[in-house]
Amino acid sequence: MFRRPFLKKAAEPEKLLLAALIPLGVGVYLHFPLSHPRLWFAAALAISGYFCFRSFYRRKGGPREQAGLLVSLVVISAGLSLSLRWTAYLSIPLAVGAASFFDWQVFVPAWAAIFVFGAGNAVLGRQGAFPVILFSIGSGAVSHFALKRFKALAASLAEKVSRLDEQKTEPGLSTGDLDVLGAAEKEFSQALLLAREVLGADSVSVFRVHEGDIAIKSSTAADIKLGSGGLIRLCLRNGQPMCLGRMDQEKLSAGYGHGSGKKTVLSMMAAPLVLGNTVLGVAACDSSRAGAFGRRHASDFRRFCAFFAGMMGRERVFAEMKRNLEGLEVFEEESSKILKHLAKEDIAREGALAARKIAPLATVIFLKSRDGYELSAAAGFSFSAGTGRFLPGNDDTKRKKTFSFFKTLKGTLVANAFAGGQEPIYISDCRDYPVAALPFDCGFQVRSVLLQPLADEEGTLGVLGMFSDRTNSLSAHQIELVKMFSSKLSFTFSRAMLHEKLALLAVTDALTGLFNRGYFEEAISREFKRLVRHPRALSLLLIDIDHFKNINDQFGHTAGDSVLKVVASTIKKVMRDTDVVARYGGEEFVAILADTDKPGAQNLAERLRKTVFLNPVDIGGNAINVTVSIGVASYPRDADSREELVELADKALYSAKSGGRNKVCLASRPA
Ligand code: GH3
Ligand code: MG
Ligand code: MG
Repeated sequence: MFRRPFLKKAAEPEKLLLAALIPLGVGVYLHFPLSHPRLWFAAALAISGYFCFRSFYRRKGGPREQAGLLVSLVVISAGLSLSLRWTAYLSIPLAVGAASFFDWQVFVPAWAAIFVFGAGNAVLGRQGAFPVILFSIGSGAVSHFALKRFKALAASLAEKVSRLDEQKTEPGLSTGDLDVLGAAEKEFSQALLLAREVLGADSVSVFRVHEGDIAIKSSTAADIKLGSGGLIRLCLRNGQPMCLGRMDQEKLSAGYGHGSGKKTVLSMMAAPLVLGNTVLGVAACDSSRAGAFGRRHASDFRRFCAFFAGMMGRERVFAEMKRNLEGLEVFEEESSKILKHLAKEDIAREGALAARKIAPLATVIFLKSRDGYELSAAAGFSFSAGTGRFLPGNDDTKRKKTFSFFKTLKGTLVANAFAGGQEPIYISDCRDYPVAALPFDCGFQVRSVLLQPLADEEGTLGVLGMFSDRTNSLSAHQIELVKMFSSKLSFTFSRAMLHEKLALLAVTDALTGLFNRGYFEEAISREFKRLVRHPRALSLLLIDIDHFKNINDQFGHTAGDSVLKVVASTIKKVMRDTDVVARYGGEEFVAILADTDKPGAQNLAERLRKTVFLNPVDIGGNAINVTVSIGVASYPRDADSREELVELADKALYSAKSGGRNKVCLASRPA
């Protein structure tokens, strides 16, 4: 009935079933079911049970099940036609089986047809056959619908479970959820197991290149241990795949060992795992049988190796991405920290520490100052008090004062960064550079440097420098992050400098550049507060230009302004740096002389008067003679409070004016 090739092709259970159908037919022919009805019924039950199982397992009837069912139907109709009573009972379990993989539109009419066709010859008689037919169709229908419901229920459950799994494995945006590497690891071990099965090997292992040697990446053998030398390293060195069938004769070891290899490894295949131009590792499979791997195995192994190499390449990309993502997170966090600050020193300190978190190198920040360069922060150096040098290691920014100012950075790499544009300078190996990296001895030999200029629209503000005692200390991604960070740092510094400028503007007189009246009031009240704790002398000069109205009238307002500027700068020059000189109003100036008693103040006032008197102001070729009158008052000699001091100075100035101008007058304590 079935040709050999069909039997050969069929899977084991189908073969058994088909083999069972032959004796079934013979049994029917011999009226066997009548002599052994129970046994026959049990066999019929088992066959239909099998169909049920297969149908549910496969979700739908395959051609073999359909063939089986057809045979069953033939058997039943034959039995009915032959008036075999037992076939009526056999129909019940068969109907159940059929119901499970045929639509009711198919199986109900088919069943009915068989019974109608067989009923004429049925030994059961009309009355006997009818309930059997009904029962048979009924039980088939019930089982059909019950099974359908059960399948639907199972499918919805399975869908729910898979949705849960999906939620679990969906890669999120944060680093924590990025478990791609874990999933890849699993996929890798599954591929190894598959390779072991396909190649019929004892074990399959993959090793990755690691610090000039190899390390175990993954293996089907749980207890794998790496040895020295061996075929795997030889293969990695040669860059060629190798296949050996008698390792004992070749006197070669595998280079690794595992429990299942207590039997000596006799056959082995090994191949380097190459992706593009990069050798990522080596794969190996072994067997204790001699000559276990033939040409077919070798080509299968090659395919597996290509897959392993691809996987490892992907893993490297993912690992790199993960590192980059983490770097970005640090970058975001750290840059928001520096943005909070407004003072240059705070920004520099936080900025150096933040840069170190992005790339763990010794870090400095230089800022341009008025007449040189200031080392505003250093992190990742430690300072040795004994040698007066920075040492790499702990963060110690306390002693940076020692190096805080440099008149010039000439002859250092840092100077290049100040001279260049806005692009970072990265030197991966600066050992052969003829100039020093830093303008001070940082305590270690600098082997690689990253210098990132900090600039705004006005030009270079400073330089962020990172130094390492290793060559190639930074990855391209780290450099990119430092570059991004430095643009935020530049912005923050620029904002701080603007803030400083604005703060200065608020206390400065626009025409003369001296402090304004507001600042003078602040300064004098601050001085008097200080005097309470540290009593000492303090003098005040009130300076007024004589007949300034005439200068305005004679030479014009612009010339008057120029005279104001010149007199202001003369006062500034004559006074000491620590004295506060302010424009009091109009053509009047005031100077607070700290730590100066009355004779000292008188001296200074006299010198100022003379200087102004002896230096006519040159305006457009006209030499304008300018004189000033000065009133001097001192604490504690003349006054006890600041209001009194100002009032007395004003009185003294009035005396100078009424005394003929171009004069210094001293206040005297009112009686
Ligand atoms: P005295 O010797 O008594 O001080 O005579 P004076 O002319 O200097 O004094 P007065 O107070 O009469 O005149 C001050 C003049 O200074 C009046 C005002 O126009 C002029 N002045 C005040 N502020 C400015 C300024 O910013 N620029 C110019 N060009 N003139 C100013
Ligand atoms: Mg005047
Ligand atoms: Mg005046």
